[in-house]
Amino acid sequence: MTQILIRGRHVVTMNARREVIDHGAVAVDGATISAVGTWTSLREQFPDATVIGTPNSIVTPGYINAHQHLTGDRLVRSCIPDNIDSQEAIFGWAVPIHAAHTAGDDHLSATLSLVEAVGNGITCTVEAGTVAHPEQVAAAMAELGARGTIGRWGWDVGDGPQAAPADEVIDRMRDLVERYPSGGLVEGWVTLVGHDLMTDELVVGASALAREHATGLTLHMSPHRGDATAYLERTGVRPLIHLDRLGVLGAHVLLGHAVHLDDDEVETVLRTRTAIASCPWAYLRLAQGVTVGGRYGELFRRGARLAIGCDAENAGDAIDALRAASLFIGLARDAELDPFTLTAHHALELLTIRGAEALGMHDRIGSLDAGKQADVVVHDTSGPQWIPRSPDPVLQLVWASDGRSVSDVLIAGREVVRAGRCITVDVAAATAEAAARQKALLRAAGK
Ligand SMILES: [Zn+2]
Repeated sequence: MTQILIRGRHVVTMNARREVIDHGAVAVDGATISAVGTWTSLREQFPDATVIGTPNSIVTPGYINAHQHLTGDRLVRSCIPDNIDSQEAIFGWAVPIHAAHTAGDDHLSATLSLVEAVGNGITCTVEAGTVAHPEQVAAAMAELGARGTIGRWGWDVGDGPQAAPADEVIDRMRDLVERYPSGGLVEGWVTLVGHDLMTDELVVGASALAREHATGLTLHMSPHRGDATAYLERTGVRPLIHLDRLGVLGAHVLLGHAVHLDDDEVETVLRTRTAIASCPWAYLRLAQGVTVGGRYGELFRRGARLAIGCDAENAGDAIDALRAASLFIGLARDAELDPFTLTAHHALELLTIRGAEALGMHDRIGSLDAGKQADVVVHDTSGPQWIPRSPDPVLQLVWASDGRSVSDVLIAGREVVRAGRCITVDVAAATAEAAARQKALLRAAGK
């Protein structure tokens, strides 16, 4: 029994044939898409269904944000200065503030981040890792109705709040992936900080755990040149070569960043089918050298599994995947002096079906196909960025627009954004709480 029809001037399916249906519609039955076709035919078939969207809307699959910190930065957004280096930003600010988070802070941070994300059309978020209370992030996702993966951070090198021997870190992560099994709205992933904050024992154990539970492993690698220096000193080879020799890499792995790769590491990524989430705004904000060392254009051209992320609120900042995707293709086009390979249509692929492939979720999400989960975004086209309308809605969506024109969002068939506002959580209450918690966190961290 189809309950909802989502209509638009253009329905951009991102299906195998990349069909864009003129005056199209998507029929939603419970959590799944039951049909995709023309408005006239589907309306005739389902005369009683509730209608979302207008004859002028653009309808797309939900966007995938493949690297997002949902806790730690949110409540001190734009408080970390932009005239310090990334080590000071992370260890002088982010780490002590993260350590001071209460369970309530993790819940509030995740809620506010996800409100922003869904408002910009993001329906699936890979969380980059929470220090203390990942179950609070899971609760925030479930209450709001957002799809995503969550992770409990741990490390066995150095100190800090979650430092522990490798087997203890693995046990905590096992507990999480068993509590939130693969395939649900909220999935537990094996999530490491990465860089050089892990022994070989920990990263080997983490990879085995992800394989054993048919879930993902995500970790930060090589956003700046420093990661390579640390590995060269310790192992004599570059980071991804070392991880490959340990047997860690593979299709179950999603690396955050991997900006600085040498030729052998590029070959290793391609051969092992390891996925990469690129967060271009973070590299610009933190001056990490994507414009001088990034290999993304080549990786894309050679068929690497790539996705786009928005990172953290003091590194990348806006949780707007469209904005990040247009920057990603712009940087790659410019770096390669190549206007042909990466286009607006590819940007939308990275946010939808190719992003889903990078997460191993393409059987469920990433395109508007009957039988898939009903994760759907509607753009209102009455704003100035849409006037006049181009015959190619994707060109205009990626280059001229951003998340501001998102009007309605459904995730697993549930309406989470209506008329541009998140309707599933009390945004006013969360907003009121945020200012007080910001003061408390800055105080606790000695700022
Ligand atoms: Zn990150």
